[in-house]
Amino acid sequence: MKQSVKLIVGNWKMNGLSAALAQAEAIRDAVSAAGQGPRVVLCPPATLIDRISAALADSGVAVGGQDCHEKPVGAFTGSVSAEMLADAGATVVILGHSERRAAFGETDADVAAKVEAAIAAGLEPIVCVGETLEQREAGEAIAVVSAQVEGSLPMGLSERDFAVAYEPVWAIGTGLTPTLEQIAEVHAAIRAAMIKRLGDSARTAPILYGGSVKPENARDILATPEVGGALVGGASLKAEDFMPIVKAAA
Ligand code: PGA
Repeated sequence: MKQSVKLIVGNWKMNGLSAALAQAEAIRDAVSAAGQGPRVVLCPPATLIDRISAALADSGVAVGGQDCHEKPVGAFTGSVSAEMLADAGATVVILGHSERRAAFGETDADVAAKVEAAIAAGLEPIVCVGETLEQREAGEAIAVVSAQVEGSLPMGLSERDFAVAYEPVWAIGTGLTPTLEQIAEVHAAIRAAMIKRLGDSARTAPILYGGSVKPENARDILATPEVGGALVGGASLKAEDFMPIVKAAA
């Protein structure tokens, strides 16, 4: 059976000044030199989307945002709308990242509203879910993640392009990862929750794994059942770390 093309997303978080344009260009050139491979998306800070999407135009690397406001326009000082991201050249947006859920108090309902806004602006949302260490140790990982999926995916996603990312909070930036069995177990539960919420149209949307994905573990993680790609933080900042992950997904 032919495997579907994987999706590899780099989440630069709040990292990157003008000089980071050179890394984006290095990734663009390496992806094009590598030939046939996964879909690759870079999500730089909002201030760089315009410049990086211009530099990556018509290349094999798309550009995404890391968050958007749920309203299209208005008196929301400091916020960026989905339409603004699209206008700057983004085609994808990460929503509901655990850092936003934790530090900015985003609820499942907030995330679902942002997903609706992203769809309205023509962006492809990547919706993040994941349990804390306490929740995993209490045996609640599957229940927590399933509830997050059902609460964060609005019905408007049916028939749309989107992805879900499973990112255990305790694996982000820590060097720790779940076992491959644990990843497979949670991804299967996420698929079931997606189908319960959205019906058959949710059978093909990729489920990415995120949390300490590195060149050393990418191949095994990407070969795990129901892992449709990776959401990569720290290892996406430099082409030399990111490209082995991209190649592991080919
Ligand atoms: P990490 O971050 O790869 O640095 O663990 C992943 C993420 O937060 O998306």
